[in-house]
Amino acid sequence: MLDTLKNRIEQGYRTSKYPKQTISLPERYRGLPTINQYADADIVAKCVKACPQNAIITDSNADPNLFKANESSRKMVDMGRCVFCGTCERVSNGKFITFTQDFGYSVAEKAHLLTSGTVPDLAKHSKQHFKKLFGRSLQLRQVSAGGCNACEADLNVLATPFFDLARFGINFVASPRHADGLVVTGPISRNMRTALLQTYEALPAPKVVIAVGSCAITGGPFRESPEVSDGLDSILPVDLYIPGCPSHPLTNLHALLSFFKDRI
Ligand code: SF4
Ligand code: SF4
Repeated sequence: MLDTLKNRIEQGYRTSKYPKQTISLPERYRGLPTINQYADADIVAKCVKACPQNAIITDSNADPNLFKANESSRKMVDMGRCVFCGTCERVSNGKFITFTQDFGYSVAEKAHLLTSGTVPDLAKHSKQHFKKLFGRSLQLRQVSAGGCNACEADLNVLATPFFDLARFGINFVASPRHADGLVVTGPISRNMRTALLQTYEALPAPKVVIAVGSCAITGGPFRESPEVSDGLDSILPVDLYIPGCPSHPLTNLHALLSFFKDRI
C-alpha cells in the first residue's frame, strides 16, 4: 500500500491540461492541410497523379458545379478521402500542399470536408439542442464496421489517464440502449451493415451519429469496392465528421468537446 502511494506521488498528475492549455505535437504530425493556389501547374499535376485517394480536387477533375460558389478556391483537398499520407507534400516539396499542426479540422457538414486550408468553426456549426441535451453527459457506443483497428485504437486512447475523456462527462458504453450516440469507424463492410443498422435502431432517440476516419466518411482506402459502402452518410444521417487515417486522439477530443460542450 505504501509503495503504491509512493509510486503515485512520484508519478504526479499525468492527465493532460488540454483544452485549458495547448498541446504541442511532434513535428511529423500532419494536421489541417494548406494549399498554395498559385503552385506551378506541373507540380499540381504530379500531386494529383500521386495521390492514392484522388483526394486533390482541381479544375481538371472537379465536379463542374463545385467552384461556382467559390471561384477563388480552385484547388482543394477532400479530407473525407485523404489518408494524410503526406505524398503530396513530399512530391511538391512543400510548394503545393503542406500539413499544419492544427488538429481541429472536424466538421458538421460533409461539404466542409473540401478544404483549401481552412474549416468552419465546429462549435458554431454544432446543433444547439445536442449541446443542451448532451453537454454535461454523453454516452457513446462505438461500432467498428470493418475498420483496420487504428481508428478504434485512437478512440480507446481517450479513456487513458492522459486524455481522461470521462472528466468531460463523455464515456463509451457497452450497450446501445444506454447510449446517446453512435461512433462508427471502418468502411462499413457488407457483413457489418446489418449489425450497424441494428445498433442504430437500438439507440433511444434523439441520437447522434459520428463518422470517424476516412473509411467511415468515404470508404477510405477501400473506396469504390463493392464490399463497402460509399460512406456512412449513404446509410445513416451523420451529425459529425472526424477525418483522418486514423484521426488523432486530439482530433477526436477536440471534435467531441467543440460539438457538444458550450465552451472548451
Ligand atoms: S496526404 Fe491526402 S491529399 Fe496528399 S497524397 Fe496523401 S491522400 Fe492525397
Ligand atoms: S480510416 Fe484508416 S486507420 Fe481508420 S479504419 Fe480506415 S484504414 Fe484504418
